[in-house]
Amino acid sequence: MNFLQLNDNQLIKQANLINGQWLTSNNSITVYNPATTQTLGEIPLIDEQTLENAIGKAQESFISYSKSTSYDKSLWLLKWYELVLAHADDLAKILTQEQGKPLAEAKGEILYAASFIQWFGEQIKSDHGLTLADPISGKSFATHKHPVGVAALITPWNFPAAMITRKAAAALAAGCTVIIKPSELTPFTAIALAELAQRAGFPVGAINLLTGDGAMIGKKLCQDPRVKKLSFTGSTQIGKLLFEQSASNIKRLSLELGGNAPFIIFNDANLDAAISALMQSKFRNNGQTCVAANRIYVDEQLKQPLLAKLIEQLAQLSCGNGLTEAVQLGPMINTTAVAKVETLVSEAIAKGAQCLYQADTKQLGANYYPVTLLTDVTPEMAIANHEIFGPVIAIQWFNDETQVIAQANASEAGLAAYFFSDNIHRCQRIANALEFGMVGINSGMVSHAISPFGGIKHSGIGREGGHNGLAEYQYIKAHCYAQLE
Ligand code: NAP
Repeated sequence: MNFLQLNDNQLIKQANLINGQWLTSNNSITVYNPATTQTLGEIPLIDEQTLENAIGKAQESFISYSKSTSYDKSLWLLKWYELVLAHADDLAKILTQEQGKPLAEAKGEILYAASFIQWFGEQIKSDHGLTLADPISGKSFATHKHPVGVAALITPWNFPAAMITRKAAAALAAGCTVIIKPSELTPFTAIALAELAQRAGFPVGAINLLTGDGAMIGKKLCQDPRVKKLSFTGSTQIGKLLFEQSASNIKRLSLELGGNAPFIIFNDANLDAAISALMQSKFRNNGQTCVAANRIYVDEQLKQPLLAKLIEQLAQLSCGNGLTEAVQLGPMINTTAVAKVETLVSEAIAKGAQCLYQADTKQLGANYYPVTLLTDVTPEMAIANHEIFGPVIAIQWFNDETQVIAQANASEAGLAAYFFSDNIHRCQRIANALEFGMVGINSGMVSHAISPFGGIKHSGIGREGGHNGLAEYQYIKAHCYAQLE
């Protein structure tokens, strides 16, 4: 419990925030540290009546919050941003303990999370509608932007800070009140962020945070007509369920779902740069990211040099408790996640994949999965068709550009894709041909607050961040003026 505090020695609350009040409940959920499996604390398991009340309060607060000026909203957001930066070290410790990622990486996530608060805090001051060219004599048209209403934000465990601020900062900037439902596996970073937002001076009821049974909360948020917007980041399976549950209300939806990113290394690539980017893309958060390199396609001419360099780098990775200095890979989130990776790897080996490297993490405990290198993977194997979500590099060899692009696109997922080539013509051709929401060209990272984040196909709908993020929480009203004599 020592680390679950901000630097003014206030312990992080183990409670829900509803209309400015921190509330506990009779029933609770235990939260564990995945690195040690020790208990970190308890969070409320709310009942339906509490959820009903929270939606009512968020709706009441919307009436006044939506009328705040853009300058006020900007001030609150930028104050929140400053407080997150001031508490970045404490937030990173909380995040590492509940999620597992190494401390330096957790700090990186906190800064990344803060960047969205800053971005939307600045953007809202210059956001505007349009005065349209007069199309008819005696009539003019203009557009005005309005907040959609109460916005529900459901977030996953793999980015406990950034997935919240990427949604909440945009929604609050637009003038929506929010109900945040973090993952029950990683609620304390969310609670700490909500506490800092309260200190930043947001009006009572603008920010609400609830914890409990995902299925019960999700269904109610979808079906309650007072909730005008649902933004969800998580698995494609739950995203589809929420889509169905929201149909009767025609609810505004943003869905940031799973990926299955191809990472293609052509024979004209800078091989060292490609390997370095692959290591970064694959091993961030121990492979547990939606944009992680998943299907790795390498030109077969590069087989020998690539394997020699890669195995050397894999052998240097250190795995352990993220609070220990120099650890680069933490635990997996839980044993279910470990079992899923184990199954994918065993099936691939049984079907002919070669395991050329596997680290040894047995002594670390049941939540750890060893860094693994598989080659000779083929498109029929399950490992090529599912998010691995673990520290496994699974290589498929290719010798034809057209064929590899067809293979890369032959997936229901359409979130991120990466490729490496030093040929500018090929770069333009491939970037256009890849059917994904984000493409890294000689880059293993595609995300920044200024750039729209999101996928196509079964990877979701909507965009977060960038110039598009705010619009997800606004509707446009067109005014038509007739000039009367
Ligand atoms: P998940 O199981 O879908 O859970 C995501 C959130 O939904 C959690 O808060 C979870 O709550 C909640 N939930 C669970 N069942 C629900 C239901 N029936 N109705 C409503 N909400 C429900 O996903 P995850 O395992 O946490 O996250 C990993 C997935 O997220 C991966 O597929 C990854 O690719 C995806 N992801 C996508 C992006 C993106 O931007 N596209 C970013 C990050 C992650 P509890 O945890 O409390 O059960």
